[in-house]
Amino acid sequence: MTNDLQNSEPPRPLHPDAVRILPLGGLGEIGLNMMVVEIEGGLLIIDCGLMFPEAYMLGIDLVIPDISAIADRQGEILGILLTHGHEDHIGAIPFLIEALGCPPVYSSPLTLGLLANKLEEHHMKDQVEFRSIKVREPVSIGPFEVEFFRAAHSIVDGCGLAIRTPAGLIVHTGDFKLDPTPVDNQPTDLGRLAAYGEEGVLLLLSDSTNVENTGQTLSERTVGEAFEELLPRCTGKILVATFSSNIHRIQQVINAAVKVDRKVLVSGRSMVSNIAIARQLGYLHVPDDILIDLRQMRDLPPQRILILTTGSQGEPLSALSRIAMDDHKQIQIKPGDTVILSSKFIPGNERAITHVINHLYRRGAEVHYETTSEIHVSGHASQNDLKTVLNLVKPEYFVPVHGEYRHLVKHAQLAHSMGWAEDRAIMISNGTPLVLSANGHHTEPRVETGRVFIDGKGVGDVGLMELRDRRHLANHGLVIVFLALHQKTGEIVSGPEIITRGFVPEDESEELLNEAKALVGQMLDAHSREAIADWEELRVEVRKTLRRLFNKTMDRRPLILPIIMEL
Ligand SMILES: [Zn+2]
Ligand SMILES: [Zn+2]
Repeated sequence: MTNDLQNSEPPRPLHPDAVRILPLGGLGEIGLNMMVVEIEGGLLIIDCGLMFPEAYMLGIDLVIPDISAIADRQGEILGILLTHGHEDHIGAIPFLIEALGCPPVYSSPLTLGLLANKLEEHHMKDQVEFRSIKVREPVSIGPFEVEFFRAAHSIVDGCGLAIRTPAGLIVHTGDFKLDPTPVDNQPTDLGRLAAYGEEGVLLLLSDSTNVENTGQTLSERTVGEAFEELLPRCTGKILVATFSSNIHRIQQVINAAVKVDRKVLVSGRSMVSNIAIARQLGYLHVPDDILIDLRQMRDLPPQRILILTTGSQGEPLSALSRIAMDDHKQIQIKPGDTVILSSKFIPGNERAITHVINHLYRRGAEVHYETTSEIHVSGHASQNDLKTVLNLVKPEYFVPVHGEYRHLVKHAQLAHSMGWAEDRAIMISNGTPLVLSANGHHTEPRVETGRVFIDGKGVGDVGLMELRDRRHLANHGLVIVFLALHQKTGEIVSGPEIITRGFVPEDESEELLNEAKALVGQMLDAHSREAIADWEELRVEVRKTLRRLFNKTMDRRPLILPIIMEL
């Protein structure tokens, strides 16, 4: 994967007054956010995120960006800037930091805290140098000057970036919403955005996730109000499932629990560790006597208990899924209990989530989720919010980021409708370098980008070919043909034997499998000694023969694997 650089082209020369932007991921998908900003004298990386596998990526655990385009430029990478601690922004760092030459990582304290926890799990915390930043305090990184500014989002301590370059000022919003009443009273810093706008901004890169939503995104505080309205009406136990990174949501759930005199049990590994990190760094305020353990829970009546857990996306191994299946040792759902899924149904997860919801109802619970209650709001800006940012920043050039292709198109169209000319609000996608200067802009030929699959301990060893085989196996099953041939004469010494998996029940399909064996034997008889000497040719012929048979008799196309031995 990333070390395979023989074919990569040398970097194109860059004018001293120009800046080059190269998205390596996140422009054309939700996830894999990673972008390179280059000027003469160095490169900066913005975010380094992962993506969770899509349904067709069978057996894949995680997906990370392909960094071939910059992997031979290690010495030039001056730093990694992280906007916030979501997986789609920090999750690829343990897999890529070495290939990037271990440059220092700049971010806010909580983001670095979450990253440290992640690196510790990979036993590589010592390899990374952390530089904790303060918002509104510019830092010099080589020839760049970088200022982080507050961006309200569904995780605390989120930031946007203002990067000063010889070509001009670049503003990156990070993931953001314009929440006027955020839970920590730290709204997106519109004052700084307006000041950048007055100073003059060459390029704005802005979050496109929610461009399809008209109006504005609701405040996170409305979720707190919904909880405070809902909780007093619950009579049994309450279970709340949300993302463990959404510290504000967790804070609001805990506040609401305190108001109705319920104690809180925290369940799930990431929920426990994120709450600990956030409390330690002062981002989460929990009265000491409110948290209980399993033993204390057993002594309380159901109406005094609230359980905070993960699994809101229907993840099969999560505590919530196991509770729903009545397969959890300590926590059972009883009639009268209430379960609240306080998060979005992420596209692709709907079936898994509704499966969990159905099982919760089967156990007698009342379930509240996205479509039935106001117990979730988005962390991303809607159309009106996006327009406000464009109007404040007034950039010379605008490039939509963080979105699937249609989101980027619609965000560019939004800017066009506000007066940005077609060549000022520019759509680029992963791998397209964009060069900007005071004199204009142009794109360069695409460079290699893509997705690297992680399966167990293997990074990049499973590619599209292997995924195709996995799909083939999953859809049609496997047929193995064993054949032993005489070393000299080429005659069959043993076999053909046929073993199948996921294809047909072998004991009920004797006739078909016997026919298959007979056909392979006939095929061998019909071939000359020379043809049989070429084993690759022989394998092809075996496959062809059986493919024809299975296709004709069964209309199925199993993966056929001939194994030929010489005796
Ligand atoms: Zn985010
Ligand atoms: Zn994101």
